[in-house]
Amino acid sequence: MRIHEYQAKEILREYGIPVPKGKLVRNPEEAEQFAEEIGLKKIVIKAQVHAGGRGKGGGVRIVKTPVEARIAAQEIIGMRLVTNQTGGEGRLVKKVLVEEGVDIRDEFYLGVVLDRSKASPLIIATSEGGVEIEKVAMEAPEKIVKEWIDPYVGLRNFQINKICYRLGLKSNQVEKMRRIISGLYNIFSKYDCLMVEINPLAQTINEDFIAIDAKINFDDNALFRHKEIVSLRDPEEESPLETEASKYNLNYIKLNGNVGCMVNGAGLAMATMDMIKFLGAEPANFLDVGGGASVEMVKNGFKILIADKDVKVVFINIFGGIMRCDTIARGVLEAISESKVNIPIVIRLEGTNVEEGRRILNESGFNFIITSSMKEGAEKVVQALGRAKNV
Ligand code: GDP
Ligand code: MN
Repeated sequence: MRIHEYQAKEILREYGIPVPKGKLVRNPEEAEQFAEEIGLKKIVIKAQVHAGGRGKGGGVRIVKTPVEARIAAQEIIGMRLVTNQTGGEGRLVKKVLVEEGVDIRDEFYLGVVLDRSKASPLIIATSEGGVEIEKVAMEAPEKIVKEWIDPYVGLRNFQINKICYRLGLKSNQVEKMRRIISGLYNIFSKYDCLMVEINPLAQTINEDFIAIDAKINFDDNALFRHKEIVSLRDPEEESPLETEASKYNLNYIKLNGNVGCMVNGAGLAMATMDMIKFLGAEPANFLDVGGGASVEMVKNGFKILIADKDVKVVFINIFGGIMRCDTIARGVLEAISESKVNIPIVIRLEGTNVEEGRRILNESGFNFIITSSMKEGAEKVVQALGRAKNV
């Protein structure tokens, strides 16, 4: 789960990391008012959307007066912000963060990410911040400082010293940086994050550090123990069908093609998509009902899957282990009886209670295309897609 910059900065502030004074506003008048309140020569207006690269896309504006702040807010609110992370259609901006401007001398990057290959948090830092870290990694990898943290031991002082030394900091800067690095690590471990990132972490002309931008990604699997984080969720920023699926504990991922896929297990999801693509079609989405789904969950999942307007053919590919084939059949039928379905549905069922599952489907009166092999299923999907296109 992601949150907005203004929310991430609140958390940073709580953990002792300096951030500019700011306020979230939803209309230009409020932006002007707050700019007057802070009464500085430099005010920053920033689009709040769950995507980076806002600066280059025109979503960050630096202005000098409250009136200019109002005009900038007016221009940003309601715009469709296109950045390298939003895709072509961009993101509609509904709110902006108004902040006191900072006189930046240098821009650093500081982040903590989860390194799955080492099963450890990894601190990444560089004095070449402000731009994308991937770009620095490509062009000047020697400038990137990496420090892996043993999660059982936690972050140690010598590791912070090492990072500061490699960043080339002077002794008066080390103490300030120490607070920021340990604050960031504490946030990462307290909230079960996948990533906590400050880019840029600015050094001011007075040699103070201040977080100009902040990004936090949380591990969805740990959200059950962070209710206060769940309340920061912004449904406007999430795909409505993905939000609906997460309500039922289902994994639903929206993709770009036109085959709706219902599977059980992430491995089978990947194999199913590979097979479809191999035969020249593209998945519109996939819905993983997992192992222990009930009839109710299958029904809800199937409804979500067909609510996607891009879906022209459905491919249900289930290998019943813990999941029972008759549960799948019942759930799908309930969904069909409650909503109008007039697209072809190819079903490949195998495994636990498969006979019962097939019997239920056969006796339903709905014209399913039933197969027993995944390859045959995928071929039927492609054929059905061809017919659908010719209509
Ligand atoms: P992003 O493009 O979505 O990552 O948004 P950022 O919050 O990182 O802002 C983009 C860029 O705007 C930063 O890298 C800074 O160079 C610039 N910027 C943002 N806030 C300030 C500020 O207070 N002062 C100055 N001088 N530049 C700023
Ligand atoms: Mn940034």
